[in-house]
Amino acid sequence: MNRLDLVVVGAGFAGMYTLHRARGLGLSVRVFEAAGGVGGTWYWNRYPGARCDVESMEYSYQFDEALQQEWRWSERFATQPEILRYANHVADRFDLRKDIRFDTRVLSAIFADKRWIVRTDRGDEVSAQFLVMATGCLSCANRPDAGGLDSFAGPIYHTGEWPHEEPDFTGKRVGVIGTGSSAIQSIPILAGRARTLTVFQRTANYTVPANNAPLDPDFVARIKADYRAFRARNSLQINAFGSNMPRSSIPARALTPGERRAALEARWEYGGLFFLGAFGDLLLDKAANDEAAEFVRGKIRGIVRDPAVAELLSPKQVIGCKRLCVDTDYYATFNRPNVRLVDISETGIDEVTPRGVRVDGASHELDALVFATGFDAMTGTLLRIDIRGRDGRTLKDAWRAGPRTYLGLSVAGFPNLFLVTGPGSPSVLTNMIVSIEQHVNWIADCIARLRAQGRAAIEARPEAQEAWVEHVNAVAGRTLYTQCNSWYVGANIPGKKRVFMPLLGFPDYVTKCDEVVAKGYEGFDIS
Ligand SMILES: Cc1cc2nc3c(=O)[nH]c(=O)nc-3n(C[C@H](O)[C@H](O)[C@H](O)COP(=O)(O)OP(=O)(O)OC[C@H]3O[C@@H](n4cnc5c(N)ncnc54)[C@H](O)[C@@H]3O)c2cc1C
Repeated sequence: MNRLDLVVVGAGFAGMYTLHRARGLGLSVRVFEAAGGVGGTWYWNRYPGARCDVESMEYSYQFDEALQQEWRWSERFATQPEILRYANHVADRFDLRKDIRFDTRVLSAIFADKRWIVRTDRGDEVSAQFLVMATGCLSCANRPDAGGLDSFAGPIYHTGEWPHEEPDFTGKRVGVIGTGSSAIQSIPILAGRARTLTVFQRTANYTVPANNAPLDPDFVARIKADYRAFRARNSLQINAFGSNMPRSSIPARALTPGERRAALEARWEYGGLFFLGAFGDLLLDKAANDEAAEFVRGKIRGIVRDPAVAELLSPKQVIGCKRLCVDTDYYATFNRPNVRLVDISETGIDEVTPRGVRVDGASHELDALVFATGFDAMTGTLLRIDIRGRDGRTLKDAWRAGPRTYLGLSVAGFPNLFLVTGPGSPSVLTNMIVSIEQHVNWIADCIARLRAQGRAAIEARPEAQEAWVEHVNAVAGRTLYTQCNSWYVGANIPGKKRVFMPLLGFPDYVTKCDEVVAKGYEGFDIS
């Protein structure tokens, strides 16, 4: 059996950077990746309109000054093909591919005799001292179990597993199931390609315009003149991005109605996720949140001509509680004569038939079906792998009551196993590349320290983990995030234990991670 220092699972931005850092430490390392190339999310999510919601100048690595200086983004919000080109550029630049085994899925990782034994679907069996799960938070496509699905005569797609050859929807009647972020990005484009587009909506989601545009060379030059300082300012934001339009510190109640309206209007015009920063308490105070939510509903009524459709598209829940979406022409798409919105909030889908979808007894004839139903977020990908720690205990069993981690990095009972952006870390509430780099640096520094001190193993203490889980819950409990059925709490997956999984507040989190190190890896047992 091949003996390695480190196995990494996944070659998205997390796995690629882990490999780079591991090489720098002189570790023997192998990366296993189920996909045929690097890029993770941006390899799989090739659906029309797929795009980043964090601005391009921020959604990239910062570990190498030459890399961030030389790469040129073309638009304010980068498209999936451009981000995938960037990932491939990084792989070329740092010669990463030679240590990555593509088209290879890890099936199990078992801790035995102080080492991790990793097995894959291609028959690999390797052992490693350390194991890094860079498997992604949004990498386990959720295909709801609609009855009759197998009988459907046409092609079925999932936005998160989009084919490499773009399907031709010309002259086709296309159905989209779901109205989350991927649906909101793809629907305006699909509507322009298909003969008819039928959108099946369970829950209306809030979306704000991207106001995307080509990047202004002067703006780029200003950032590149001191990229490091720009990155540092962004890392001090609660979500680790957006220092050019920071969250207001003023609570809504301290403003007059006119000032509140102007703040919301300015953010709507500016475009993007910054909308949620209009008031300091937008995600803390229900009245402040109600005002922002009603503002968006007003915009929907102003854009969508049919009042009944506008009403159906108007979300009722707390705004920002489900991930806010960012769009280009989403609401206006419902003014097109070839687009129909079908409400499935009460009835769900009766069944899929060979010729379409039946809802509440009515048949909708379709030639192709697109599932835009998201992911089993944060835990799904990990729990698909047979991971067994000390004494043969499975991760599935350890997380029976919901995911439990220390710092989102480590799990008690699973020595030398590290998660990148795991549950209990800021992860999906942040610019994820920033979170990924912070995690990978922490992990690499930890491994370097252990080796320098001649130590073999590190493991979270159960009591530190319990205190951390409580802390994550307490932080979430002070916000409005827990007040709706979102994938942040696992509500999109039937039977999944409801736990608010990410931690709000990147800067405080970084401080905590640094303190843990400064106190000799407080909360960990080192042997
Ligand atoms: C449509 C979409 C839009 C997004 N937009 C944004 C955004 O605007 N801003 C933002 O910050 N983040 C965004 N994200 C989140 C995005 O996932 C992260 O930004 C980032 O790309 C995650 O990188 P990663 O390497 O951690 O995980 P991923 O990119 O998910 O990579 C994980 C890799 O692990 C592989 N893998 C998993 N299990 C196994 C296994 N058992 N064996 C082998 N390989 C395995 C997968 O194939 C995958 O390639 C978006 C996600 C999606 C899906």
